[in-house]
Amino acid sequence: NFVPPVKSNGGNTSNMISSRVLGKSDDALEDSTRKCLEMLCGPDGELPEKLRNLEPRLIEHVSNEIMDKDPNVRWSDIAGLEHAKKCVVEMVIWPLLRPDIFRGCRSPGRGLLLFGPPGTGKTMIGKAIAGEAKATFFYISASSLTSKWIGEGEKLVRALFGVASCRQPAVIFVDEIDSLLSQRKSDGEHESSRRLKTQFLIEMEGFDSGNEQILLIGATNRPQELDEAARRRLTKRLYIPLPSAEARAWIIRNLLEKDGLFKLSEEDIVAICRLTEGYSGSDMKNLVKDASMGPLREALRQGIEITKLQKEDMRPVTLQDFENALQEVRPSVSSNELSTYEDWNRQFGSLA
Ligand code: ADP
Repeated sequence: NFVPPVKSNGGNTSNMISSRVLGKSDDALEDSTRKCLEMLCGPDGELPEKLRNLEPRLIEHVSNEIMDKDPNVRWSDIAGLEHAKKCVVEMVIWPLLRPDIFRGCRSPGRGLLLFGPPGTGKTMIGKAIAGEAKATFFYISASSLTSKWIGEGEKLVRALFGVASCRQPAVIFVDEIDSLLSQRKSDGEHESSRRLKTQFLIEMEGFDSGNEQILLIGATNRPQELDEAARRRLTKRLYIPLPSAEARAWIIRNLLEKDGLFKLSEEDIVAICRLTEGYSGSDMKNLVKDASMGPLREALRQGIEITKLQKEDMRPVTLQDFENALQEVRPSVSSNELSTYEDWNRQFGSLA
């Protein structure tokens, strides 16, 4: 149970924090930073050991930008992927909910890799895991560590794992994990990115061997770039493929129904599904968006002014709207790419 630190009469908590963390006076910390550190203090009003040597501004960045307090995705929002969902429940959700049972022989892997084409629901799965397991969700794109946090990536990684360990159970989702743990570069690899990779593997090793309730999920659409060390740590590797026809139908229905725009017949849906072979979940979303503009564009073409337009002036979305949208929204994944994923899945995937 989290008990907020209480300010005592002598020195207040924030003073204790700042002197411990920075060796500076309280004034040196911004209000927002101080507040954020206070939130991480234990019942004794002290900052946990792991965070003491970290820079407060990085802790603040992790708490405010990387930590997602309300990921807000449920299993029921994700179309298809039944098999992957089932595995995830057993491999990660149960162990996070019942660590007492999942010990010894049953102790779970702490690293999960979700691989497959872009826009197929990998991030959604990560968020849903956090939601279902009542865990804190941390999202970071690995490429931001190398591009945006040049030279500071290592420190940010330490802050990330440090804050996560104070917010257990925690799910750390690392998008584009290949850019962090790739096997290429080795010769021309920059010293800094090598150090970043080492730091990352050390942190993973740390919680893997301990009793921490932290799960690391890496997502990638370039699994073939991961090296052996990365594969070894990401013990479960799930292929997240393109949506099936049923899943595509579900996405269309779900998005349109949410807005009260669903009036398509079963035959229309079947026709759209036939025409969208090879579309990813996110392509489908873009397609529905574009199709739903059809009735609006038509009403405006008929001379109704946008400011005067009533919802009733617009007809429902039709098959024709989808056919028009299909000209604009093309599938983003090629069949060549798909066979790469399937090959890798056969070789390294957990469910191959
Ligand atoms: P990625 O696999 O690249 O992490 P995301 O999970 O970020 O993809 O998905 C991007 C968007 O595409 C989602 O916000 C959602 O709207 C849509 N989408 C992708 N896959 C699915 C799916 N299986 N079910 C429902 N929506 C999906």
